[in-house]
This record gives sequence, C-alpha cells and structure tokens, in this order.
Amino acid sequence: MNELFSAVEIIATKRDKSVLTDPQIDWIIDAYTRGAVADEQMSALLMAILLNGMNSHEISRWTDAMINSGERMSWSKLSIPTVDKHSTGGVGDKITLPLAPLVAACGAAVPQLSGRGLGHTGGTLDKLESIPGWRASLSNDEMLKVLQDCGAVICAAGAGLAPADKKLYALRDVTGTVQSIPLIASSIMSKKIAEGTSALILDVKTGSGAFISDPEQAKLLARTMVDLGVRAGVKTRALVTAMDVPLGLTAGNALEVRESIEVLAGGGPSDVVELTLLLAREMLELVGVKGKDPAVALKDGSAMDHWRRMIKAQGGDPDAKLPTATESEVVLAESDGLVTEMDALKVGLSAWLLGAGRSRQGEKVQAGAGIEMHAKPGEIVKKGAPLFTLHTDEPERFPRSLAALAGAVSISASNQKVERLPLIVARID
Ligand code: URA
Repeated sequence: MNELFSAVEIIATKRDKSVLTDPQIDWIIDAYTRGAVADEQMSALLMAILLNGMNSHEISRWTDAMINSGERMSWSKLSIPTVDKHSTGGVGDKITLPLAPLVAACGAAVPQLSGRGLGHTGGTLDKLESIPGWRASLSNDEMLKVLQDCGAVICAAGAGLAPADKKLYALRDVTGTVQSIPLIASSIMSKKIAEGTSALILDVKTGSGAFISDPEQAKLLARTMVDLGVRAGVKTRALVTAMDVPLGLTAGNALEVRESIEVLAGGGPSDVVELTLLLAREMLELVGVKGKDPAVALKDGSAMDHWRRMIKAQGGDPDAKLPTATESEVVLAESDGLVTEMDALKVGLSAWLLGAGRSRQGEKVQAGAGIEMHAKPGEIVKKGAPLFTLHTDEPERFPRSLAALAGAVSISASNQKVERLPLIVARID
C-alpha cells in the first residue's frame, strides 16, 4: 500500500522540536494500529514526544486519533445521566469499589471501564477478581444490562475500545516512555471519551506512591486532561489528591475488597470514607443529580445493596469468603512515639513483592497477598506494637518484601509535627 507519509519524516519532525501536523498525527496513529509502522519507529517517536513535548492542539489531535482507532460506546438507552471516575492510581486506592455502587444508589449511572495493576499500583479488576466467580469481561450488551439493572458496572475495556492506546501503552511500558504528560493525558482521556460517559471526575494522585509525584506536574496533567474532556463535550473536573501515604489500612487485592465492604457497611477507615464521599458528591453535582446524600446511602444499606447486585450480575458471590494468604509475618515498632510518616511507594512495592501485583503483563496475581497497616501517621505507637502484617502464599517472598519496607515508617517524639499533603491538593475545573 502506498502510504501518505514516512514514519522517519514524522520522527525527525518531533526530534527537531517542530509541531506535528493533523494529517501526520492521524496517519501515524492509524498506520501504527494497522501494523504499517514498526514498534522501533513508534518507540523513537514516543521518546521524541517525551523529551520535546506536544502543544495542546497536538495533544487533542493525538487523543482524537486514538479514539477514532476503535469504537465509541453510547448509553443513550439509559434514562439517567452517566458519570465516571478515573484515578491515576496509587497504593491502597480501592475507592472505585465503594464509589461506583454508592453513586448508583444516589441516582446516577456509573459505566466504569477499569484496568489491571502494573508495578506498585494496584488495579481495580485484580481486586474484584478476588471475589469468587466475578467476571471482568463483558460484551457491550451485557455491560448495558448490568448498568440498567444495578446502576453501576465495573469491567474491562473490550478490544474494540481505543485499540491504538492498547498497543501504544504496551510499547511505552517497555521503552521508558510512560512518564510523559501528553502521552498519559491522551491515553487516559481517549479511553474515557470513547467509553461514552457524559461526565467524568479525575482523581489525579500526587506524592511518593503516585505515577507523578511532583504536585506541580500532577496539576499540569490534571489541567491537560480536563481540557481534553471539555473539548470532547464531556463534563470534566479534576481533583489532585494526596498519595504520599497509602489510602486506608490495606494494600492488596482481597484485603482491599474487604476494606471496601466495610465502607459500604457504614464503617471503614476515615480517609477512605472521606475521599469516597467527596468524589461521590462531585460526581453527583457534575450531572445535577440531587437524590440521596451519599453519607446516608452508606449508612442505610442502599449502597451495599447496589454493590451486592452489581457483583452478582457479573457472576460473583457477594457472600463468599474472600481468599486469604497462607503465610503471614508481622513487623513491629522499634520505638515508642508518634508515627510521622509512612511512605506510600515503599508500602506499594512491598505489597507488590508479596505477590499482590505483577511485573509482566498477563502474570497471575495472588488474591490474598498484601499488607495490613496497623498504625498511620498521626497515631502513637508503643515499642513492640505491630505496624504491618504482611501476607503471601509464598514465604520465600518475605525477605525482599521486608527489605522494600525498610524505612517506610518514621516514629518520632510525640511533640513532633506530622508533615502530610492535604487530602485535596488542587481542584481543576
Ligand atoms: N493510565 C493509562 O491508562 N495510561 C497512562 O498513560 C497512564 C496511566
């Protein structure tokens, strides 16, 4: 086939810090998706983009080209507005699990396409798959049915949704080109816009356990994504939130499901409850649904009811016992005092090394592996009190996991100040 452009010419344009034209962008995304541009050529272009950036017009054209590489879903058959939430990922970030049924219980529909964990951050689908029988892959018709019956659906994106991003993301992962704001923003927003939601809240994490640790860079990513959403007609808002400390008291698949169920039962750790309620209120406000107060829906059992229906509709047994790991090891406090820090990245890496996460795509994760935290910053501990319990089915994993956790917690004299990022670092409309 006679091609419109040469990949080499496009790589050289970006290498020389020039702006890509619309036809160049449309062609390279299409040609790469159909296999007419080689991985090594796309890798060179991605590295040039990482180093030299893209302007806002290039980013939005790149996003549109990725959307146009596949199907666009539609929820026009629903009688209530759709609203979704996307988190850029963090340690112990199980918020999607209580949030989707909670927002459904308050009167909006939540079509949530989620991903799997890679590296130290967990993935929503891996967490839900620890529920016996639960199925992540649904056809578009099944997805609509679950959404109509339960008000919320959490599942994997099908092969037809932004296929260009699937290829590009896999390539970025092995070529050191993930950490680029234009590439992250276009990757996330192409999928969210193609998913067909009418409104979207972005939870952009910042701090040691986030993809982007620097708050200023996280704000720039949030602004870039909000602009892409608004341009595409999706009501979009972003909150930049703290990920310097893990969220809640667990990191690991079944452990996080258990904690999410505690939140849906009206309990659970205060930071998880606070962020869940905050995001639920933002989502409902964005679509103008003024039904039930989310705090009431957590207390009166209606959010739990939506959770149970949603899990059952996807083949899961909400009453089944969650898997637990066969081996555990407890880490004790070495001194008396105030916990002033708990490094999210170290906890995330340690949980990953216990088998909660994967290091290669397609690898199996352990449902029961992970870490329970027994004290968080701001709490007083006694020497010898438990700080963490580590869980795994493979005890040979303990030494590396314990080494990754070394120095994760600082314990100081109890008159010391606890330096923490505020829960909400910035709000971007
Ligand atoms: N999540 C995505 O979907 N894409 C990225 O580039 C980073 C996080």
